[in-house]
Amino acid sequence: MGRTNVIDGSKLAAALRQRVGEIAAQLHRETGIMPGLATVLVGEDPASQVYIRSKGRACTASGIAAFDIRFPLDVAERRLVAEVERLNRDGRIDGILVQLPLPAQIDAQRIISVIDPAKDVDGFHPFNIGRLWSGLPTMVPCTPQGCLRLLRTVHDELSGADAVILGRSNIVGKPLAALLVAANCTVTMVHSRTKDIPDICRRADILIAAAGRPRMVGAGWIKPDASVIDVGINPVVGPDGRNRVVGDVDYEPVAAIAGAITPVPGGVGPMTIACLLLNTLLAACRRRGLPDPLL
Ligand code: NAD
Repeated sequence: MGRTNVIDGSKLAAALRQRVGEIAAQLHRETGIMPGLATVLVGEDPASQVYIRSKGRACTASGIAAFDIRFPLDVAERRLVAEVERLNRDGRIDGILVQLPLPAQIDAQRIISVIDPAKDVDGFHPFNIGRLWSGLPTMVPCTPQGCLRLLRTVHDELSGADAVILGRSNIVGKPLAALLVAANCTVTMVHSRTKDIPDICRRADILIAAAGRPRMVGAGWIKPDASVIDVGINPVVGPDGRNRVVGDVDYEPVAAIAGAITPVPGGVGPMTIACLLLNTLLAACRRRGLPDPLL
């Protein structure tokens, strides 16, 4: 067994963000276009507020205009629909991101379906999901895209690898399955109703944990030298009584067996934001019939 390769998501994300910034600057110089991202936040959930703030800061740092739109928790669904329709028409806006989860009175799927697919930088619109599964150019959802980019830093070839995805959500597990199938992996999805999950995970060359369960994946689940991507972001109280964030993987013991692993924080999280910036830049180019920047 070789030394574990700790995949540095922060470093990779910083490089991607810088590249997006350079291309955005060139686009602005040559055409006067400045890509724009509108984020829509309903309510005052502290975690969502942190995400929205960091997305806004990241935009500004990469030369993307940020439009921060907020609604109170009790906003009516029709008001939110009207706002998304307004953003669809607004020529300054290339990307629209509605922060999930939404409160119970709002049908999140309805809101997602109202977003113009050309501005759907999260890649959650059914039109874009269909294109993803069909292997057509689309908006690739940010977190799965980040996972794939991280995997490619340690795998020259993904073809034929056994990949197991823990979690089947619409935002992580399912689109990631589409990407890994397209990369010729043999994909198994496990979820809350799956029997013998550790047994299945032990067969994985690539294990992606996205269940939202702190340190669920133990060392006994890991095939020696497997690549482990930890998507989980779970707030916990540490032994010192302070709040911290852990992944779905029990990091230290798993890192001793895995061939490569992403840390939390500093793994998938930063890549998600970098991919959001990239998708906004792509949307800005595609909406105007310009070729995709190579990234
Ligand atoms: P979700 O709750 O929508 O889905 C969780 C999935 O895990 C479900 O399919 C469920 O069946 C499965 N699951 C839950 N408990 C299980 C168990 N005990 N055994 C087997 N399967 C189980 O969550 P989500 O939105 O996909 O997010 C998952 C995790 O990833 C969360 O911790 C979330 O915070 C994190 N996340 C991180 C990023 C990032 O940028 N790093 C982005 C999105 C989500």
